[in-house]
Parts: sequence; C-alpha cells; structure tokens
Amino acid sequence: MVDIPLARPDITETEIEAVTAVLRTPNLALGPKLGEFEAGMASYCGTRFGVAVSSGTAGLHLLMLAMGVGEGDEVITTPFSFVASANCAMYVGAKPVFVDIDPETWNIDAGRIEAAITERTKAIIAVDVFGQPADYGAILDVARRRGLRVIEDSCEALGARYRGQPSGSIGDAGVFGFYPNKQITTGEGGMLVTDDVEVANLCRSMRNQGRDGLGGWLDHPRLGFNYRLSDINCALGVAQLSRIETILATRSRVASWYLDALEGDDRIVTQRIAPDVAMSWFVFVVRLADRYSEVDRDRVLRGLRDRGIGCSNYFVPIHLQEYMVERLGYGEGAFPVCERTANRTIALPFQKDLTRETVVEVCSALRSIL
Ligand SMILES: *Cc1c(COP(=O)(O)O)cnc(C)c1O
Repeated sequence: MVDIPLARPDITETEIEAVTAVLRTPNLALGPKLGEFEAGMASYCGTRFGVAVSSGTAGLHLLMLAMGVGEGDEVITTPFSFVASANCAMYVGAKPVFVDIDPETWNIDAGRIEAAITERTKAIIAVDVFGQPADYGAILDVARRRGLRVIEDSCEALGARYRGQPSGSIGDAGVFGFYPNKQITTGEGGMLVTDDVEVANLCRSMRNQGRDGLGGWLDHPRLGFNYRLSDINCALGVAQLSRIETILATRSRVASWYLDALEGDDRIVTQRIAPDVAMSWFVFVVRLADRYSEVDRDRVLRGLRDRGIGCSNYFVPIHLQEYMVERLGYGEGAFPVCERTANRTIALPFQKDLTRETVVEVCSALRSIL
C-alpha cells in the first residue's frame, strides 16, 4: 500500500467552479473558453499564437505535418524522453534519429547533433527533460547553419526559461501537455505555441478535421483529425493557468527541500541545472551513482514501495522499447549515456501536499535502503 503518492494534480475550488460554469452553458466545444485558453497560453509564453489540442502527442503530430516532415525524412531527437517525442516522427513516415544525452543535465547532447545530420534530416525535436530547457543556444546554432526546423517538446517544462526566454517560445514551435501529472492539467490536453502564422493556421485547421476559418462545417479543404480540446478542458486550463505562479513556486519549494536533504551524498546524483536556465520542476528524479546496477535500482524501488513511498524508474530509453527495436534495429549500447542514466533513475514523490518533514523522511528511507 502506498501512503505517499508519486504525483497528484493541484486542483482547487477555482478549477471546480470554472468547469461547472461551462456545464451551465450550451458551449461545451469550440466555445469561448478555447480562445481564452489559447490567448492565455500564448501570452504566458510570449508567442503570437496558441493552438489547443487534445494531447501533447497530438500537438507534436500536427507540428510534424505543418513543418512538412514526411515519408523518408529524418528527425533528430533524444532517446531519454517520453515515447511521444519520437513517435510523432513515425506517425508521418519519418525516422527518429537519436542522439545521446549529456551525462549531467540529461538533455540531448547538442554537441553531437551535427554528426547525426544527413541530407534527409528535416527537424530537431528538443525535449526539456524533467522541466529543464535543452541547450537551445547550441541547438539553434546548428539548426540555422544546416537549415533545420526546431520543435520544442516542452511538455514537461511549462514556465521554464532559457536565458530568460519562456520554454516553448525559443524554436519554431513548442508543445505543452496537460495530462494530470504535468505542472498544469486539463485532464487530457495539449497546446502548441508559435510565432509562425502559417504553422498556427495549418495546425488549427488540422486539429479540426481539416476545416478552415472561411468554409462551412462540411467543407474540408485538407486532411485533418479530431484533435480538438473541449471547452470543459479549456476552462480547467484557464483556471490552472491563473494560478501558475503559485503552482510552480510550490513545486520549486519541494524540489529545494529534496536538494537540501540529498546534498553531499555521493551515492545519489541529481540533475545538473545549467546556469542559464530556470527550471520548472516536473518530477523529482535522482539517479544512483555508477557503482549501482539496474538490479540494485530496482531493489531500491521495491524497498521504497514497501515503506509506502510512491516511486518509479524514469524513463525507459525510447530506442529500447520493443517496437522501436523491431522497426529501427537499435540495440543495447547504442546510446550508452542514456542507458547508464535510465538504468539508475528513481522518481521520488513530488506534489504540492508534501511537507519538508515528509521529504526528509523519503530521503532517509532512500539512504537506509542503499
Ligand atoms: C507528457 C509528455 C508528452 C505528451 O503527453 P500527452 O500524454 O500526449 O499529453 C510529450 N512529450 C513528453 C516529453 C512528455 O513528458
């Protein structure tokens, strides 16, 4: 039995009232809350446009299409992420090409991107892992020199900043996800943000069955999807966004308690935060030192769970997922830094109701198990 959950959404009466208010209107979809949420997200990220979609994955899929990525193309991304970062390329017949990660920040090692570029490479999908923006200075530099589009998978990083610039607004377009474990949630949902009017218009059309603003309900000038986000979800998003500063500050406080409690223990390594980023804490993940094996890590996870502490490994390398091995033929050892990291990670309980005492208790349990 788990007494301390790994994650919980931060929902208050504000959100409950916002959702019930929509239910008292006839506008449950494509209503006023959709535009309000999109405008609010665009304003928060400092972009011209926001396009709400039914999930972060849907947003990534639409961006592949809007940027002209298709059959036979290659897209560079990190193997240390959630599968959606690479799946979106496969949805359009393109091949995800992985580049190993930096051993300390756990983000894509930007210095290795250039060597992975071929004449088929169309785009780079950078992921802001665990809420830390990727190394965009180096990523944009190589992308500009080699004529590649840059998509930010910022699904874990709403509110983070790179050299002062909000995550999602740095590349050609960015995507956020609002599953209940994210910084803000709409139940299910996502948002893509961009300054590119063409990308925004195309995505807006494709998420709504290929309709455009001018035609009627039954006119579909292009192939589209139903990737819409309902007004019920959008109202929840607007309410969450109105509390974003509090939500992020609470998460940041819990993270600082963990960092304090774990400091100086060379068995436990935390994510290095680059000096030019501001973190938006998504999860609190530590990795065990290299002298521990994957088997040791799994025993630690069991030990924590036996003590009622919610925890998880985070992530399994994308290139080693069964379907990826079958389709792309990557094997163990292909991305050693990613694998060495992934085999040793432990996500610790991370949510707003944690007290400093509980955080200290979790860390003592971790130490005593080690
Ligand atoms: C959560 C997440 C997504 C999107 O997830 P959805 O469940 O589709 O909203 C995409 N990429 C990363 C890295 C994520 O963490």
